[in-house]
Order: sequence, then structure tokens, then C-alpha cells
Amino acid sequence: MAAILLDGKEMSEQLRREIAGRVLKLREKGVTPGLAVILAGNDPASEIYVRNKGNGCREVGMHSETVLLPADVSQEKLEAEIDRLNRDDRIHGILVQLPLPAHLDAASALARILPEKDVDGFHLLNAGRLMTGEDGVIPCTPRGALYMLRQTGMDLNGMEAVVIGRSNIVGKPMAMLLMRENCTVTVCHSRTRNLAEHTRRADILVAAVGKPGFITGDMVKPGAAVIDVGINRVDGKVRGDVDFDSVSPVAGWLTPVPGGVGKMTITMLLQNTPEAAERKASI
Ligand code: NAD
Repeated sequence: MAAILLDGKEMSEQLRREIAGRVLKLREKGVTPGLAVILAGNDPASEIYVRNKGNGCREVGMHSETVLLPADVSQEKLEAEIDRLNRDDRIHGILVQLPLPAHLDAASALARILPEKDVDGFHLLNAGRLMTGEDGVIPCTPRGALYMLRQTGMDLNGMEAVVIGRSNIVGKPMAMLLMRENCTVTVCHSRTRNLAEHTRRADILVAAVGKPGFITGDMVKPGAAVIDVGINRVDGKVRGDVDFDSVSPVAGWLTPVPGGVGKMTITMLLQNTPEAAERKASI
């Protein structure tokens, strides 16, 4: 039997309706949540992401601003823009589109964003809050992936979860979130030995590797929930880290690519922004 597809598009549409309602309530109290996205350079994929974020904001009734900087912008100029947005009361969320051009220091730029406006959840303070179990901003992709996982209806308590990838933006926060849900979490990475021995134990398998079709059916436990975070461009098409054709007959649930976690990432950004506005307004 084929895996049940976790449809990110459908879930996003439902969530965006809820977010729009939340934004409306804020607007009725005189607060319009605002998101500013800084894009340095003209990487075509980043331009598409930034455009989608702006469209998403408008769709749910939020204020949106895009700050376009040239590819050779200096670190000082970039951080001056962040400072300006930190001071701007109309802006509740600031996002620096990654990757930045190579000469720029991304860590320093991210640290410059006020933690309460860090709607990507990449600031060290928010990363630390997630690590210690305190309330903070949760990075959008893992938050979206967890949301999808919850839609399976499975009881996450005590589940064996295997996350492949240990990046700061996906793998590590995903592992933290799953631990918070009382899963037993294993994090695998490029130096992991006998990867398939780990993945075959997983009731929940999260692939955030960046290699198209990397997870094949023989690596998956029958009935597992498989969350494919990968976005890989192959011959002009977007492919995930999971080999759909071989995994679908084995897994219990599977997120498609496209139309899976990627859709949810922007939706979670749209959720994090009014939440930041609510915290600021103490609503
Ligand atoms: P990254 O390159 O920072 O991390 C990749 C991870 O994969 C590393 O931790 C590495 O150790 C691990 N890895 C590499 N080769 C491996 C191997 N052979 N075996 C086991 N582990 C291996 O990437 P990232 O930023 O975490 O992104 C991962 C993927 O998720 C990419 O395809 C990226 O495009 C995608 N992504 C998607 C979204 C979304 O919205 N869906 C958001 C962010 C990233």
C-alpha cells in the first residue's frame, strides 16, 4: 500500500486562513504585523523565495517590506539596515535571506537582529531557548515539519526519531523539537557509519541532507512517517532527499516534494510574525 501523503499545500492553505484571522484581530487592535526581508545580491532562487514571502504576507493581510541590497554591499551597510529595521515599530519580524554573498558574515548579521524580531529563529538567544526548553521563536522549517508530523495523528511519545543532517537551520532544531515531543532522537550526519542501520529503526525519519533521492525504500522501516526536507534542483525540477518511488510503498506517511515541507516553511514564517507582534503588544 502506498504511504499517505502529507499535503503541505492543503495544510498551508488551512493554516494561512487561521493566520489571516489572527492578523485581522491584531489589526482591529491597531497593530498590523510587519515583516521585512533583506536580500543581498541577485541569486535567482533567493529572489523567488523573497517574492513568495512578500506575496504570503499580503495574502494574510500583513505589512511587508523587501530591502534589496547590491551583491557587493558591505557588512556595515547590511548591519545598518538591520539596525534601522530593529528601530522601526511597523516591523515585527526581520529576515536576512540566506545564503549571503560570500564576503559577508552571516552569523554576525543574524546576531544583529533583535531576538524578538528574529522570526527565522536563527539568533543565538532563540537557538538557546529552544535548546533549554524555554519559549522562543522556532525556526520555520522544523516547525513546519513538526506540524506535518502531528497531522499523522501518531502519538509521538517514545517514538524512535532519526534526523539526517545536523545544520543549525534544520537538523539541530528539528532534533530539539522532537526531543521536546518525548521522541528518542538520533542525529545522523556525513560521518555517521552504517546510516541505514539507524534509519531502519526510525518510526519518524526526517531527511535534511541536500542529496536528491538519497533515502531509498530499503532504508525505511515499514509504516514509518518520512519527512522530506530536501530541496534539490535536478534538470530544472525540484526533488527531495527521499526517493519517492521506492519509499512510498514502504512508509506509512510521506511528505511530497514539491508540495510538502517547503510550502510549510513560508507559512510558519507568516505565523511567527504575528506571534512576534502579539508578544510585543502583550496581546
Ligand atoms: P546543510 O548542507 O547545511 O546540511 C546538510 C547535512 O546533511 C549536514 O549536516 C551533513 O552532515 C548531512 N549529510 C551530508 N551528506 C550526508 C551523508 N552522506 N549521510 C548523512 N548525512 C549527510 O543543508 P541544510 O541547510 O540543512 O538543508 C538540507 C536540505 O534541506 C537541502 O536540500 C536544503 O535545500 C533543504 N532545505 C529545505 C527547506 C524547506 O523549506 N523545505 C529549508 C531549508 C533547507
